[in-house]
Amino acid sequence: MIDMDVNTYIAPEFIPLVLVVDDDVTSTLMLSKVLSRDGYSIQIVHNAQAALDKCQDRLPDIILMDAIMPGMDGFECTQAFKAKYGSHCPPILMITGLNDSESVDCAFEVGATDYVTKPFHWAVLRQRVRRTIKAYIDYKNLQDALQKERTLRQELRITNQQLHRLATVDGLTNIANRRVFDERFQQEWKRLQREQAPLGIALFDIDCFKAYNDTYGHQAGDDCLRDVAQMIQQVARRPADVAARYGGEEFALILPNTDLEGTTHLAKLVQHHLQHRAIPHASSVVSSQVTVSVGLTSTIPETSGSPSLLIRTADRALYEAKHQGRDRIVAYTALDQSSATPEISDAQTSNAQTSNAQTSNAQTSNAQTNVALLSVDDLKRYDDTRVQIKKTISPKP
Ligand SMILES: [Mg+2]
Repeated sequence: MIDMDVNTYIAPEFIPLVLVVDDDVTSTLMLSKVLSRDGYSIQIVHNAQAALDKCQDRLPDIILMDAIMPGMDGFECTQAFKAKYGSHCPPILMITGLNDSESVDCAFEVGATDYVTKPFHWAVLRQRVRRTIKAYIDYKNLQDALQKERTLRQELRITNQQLHRLATVDGLTNIANRRVFDERFQQEWKRLQREQAPLGIALFDIDCFKAYNDTYGHQAGDDCLRDVAQMIQQVARRPADVAARYGGEEFALILPNTDLEGTTHLAKLVQHHLQHRAIPHASSVVSSQVTVSVGLTSTIPETSGSPSLLIRTADRALYEAKHQGRDRIVAYTALDQSSATPEISDAQTSNAQTSNAQTSNAQTSNAQTNVALLSVDDLKRYDDTRVQIKKTISPKP
């Protein structure tokens, strides 16, 4: 029977396979008899080529290789095994003559794991076979464990990527979600505060989107959101630009190092793409196709300034764009502490359009915020004439 400590490293049903390669028939019979008694499974071949052939189906757990054989000898055969199986090659015990130190040296040179001498010292041989197999199985187990760990790490990496994606990407539109917008906006505010460079923000709102959903169904509504998101994503080309879904049908662009003119240009580009795409919208009150209202602003972040105020300013501009009749861009040049963010919906702006009182209130509020307001005509003029935006703004008192 195999020693107890051998049984501890192998599964009970696992019987190690020993391949004996020796041209001496008497030797092979004796080896087979002794090693069988120790519980191993034995295969015997009488030449090197037969050994290589035998291993096609299953690699043994140890090879006992006679050094001196006619034709290909044990050293060449060992080299062939090493070349063929590399790190998967089973351990090879070279069988050498009792006082043949040259063969021992040669055995180690060609990659044999150890050697045993002939005539056999059975106790030594059994110990050496047992220990060599144990070391080999330990090695294989370690390799398996490492492989499992590599696989687990790979799976973990994929899972983490999926989690990161779930946490940062809007599931419907596949662009950045609100969380990313909030984080990146704070980061860019601080960065541009240090660099004293402008930070542009544009907020987009799909006009009459509720009516679109009511007319075409939610599936089409989702498609429309995806389309608009992609158009906004398209213009966010620089590495630090962020296109994000801001709310239901609201989207946002964070545009670092971008002044009001640049921010306006990109907003116009989105409108241009949208116009070109011509998504029909039969129930829109402003156009026969899907349009967006855009509120935007840009500022060089000051230490005393507030990032949330910049958002409120863009939001206020968006409100104004809606209020003025939608399908337009309103750009505010200045931050103002008093600019508030009114709750806005299509229904409210629709009411506002028909209510003089509300329009009047909005105008009053606008005058109070002391901002420069750009009309669509103004914006067209910038594009047409490439006049600096600030020259055409006449800030209200
Ligand atoms: Mg021989």
